[in-house]
Amino acid sequence: MDDCIFCRIAKGDIPSRKVYEDSEILAFHDINPQAPVHFMLMPKRHIASLADAKSEDAGVIGRMLAMSGRLAREQGSPDGYRTIINTGRIGRQDVMHLHIHIIGGPEPLGRMLPKAAG
Ligand code: AMP
Ligand code: ZN
Repeated sequence: MDDCIFCRIAKGDIPSRKVYEDSEILAFHDINPQAPVHFMLMPKRHIASLADAKSEDAGVIGRMLAMSGRLAREQGSPDGYRTIINTGRIGRQDVMHLHIHIIGGPEPLGRMLPKAAG
């Protein structure tokens, strides 16, 4: 997927501020952070969105979720955090390569959604 920006980040063609990497997963800081801690976990393999995930993707998705607590603590969110997976048009997904936002910091976040989503 040469035209996918997150595939290019996974390959190292576009630089990112890495949080974690293994053979299947890359975690990196969001370029436009919404909170003191804001990074993303993604599979290196291209999966367009959560709505496109197949049963064979369950392992890597589970591993990303299972490591999120440790990474969030390491990054400065000691007592919880928010996971967001924007999916498709309705979920306002901008980058069509599955990724999990990990958002937190030292203090509690605001409400999950504004009352009138704009
Ligand atoms: P969404 O697809 O709606 O979950 O949003 C995509 C997210 O990717 C946004 O929060 C962007 O700030 C972030 N983003 C886009 N390009 C980059 C990049 N080159 N490095 C890090 N984060 C990025
Ligand atoms: Zn991709």
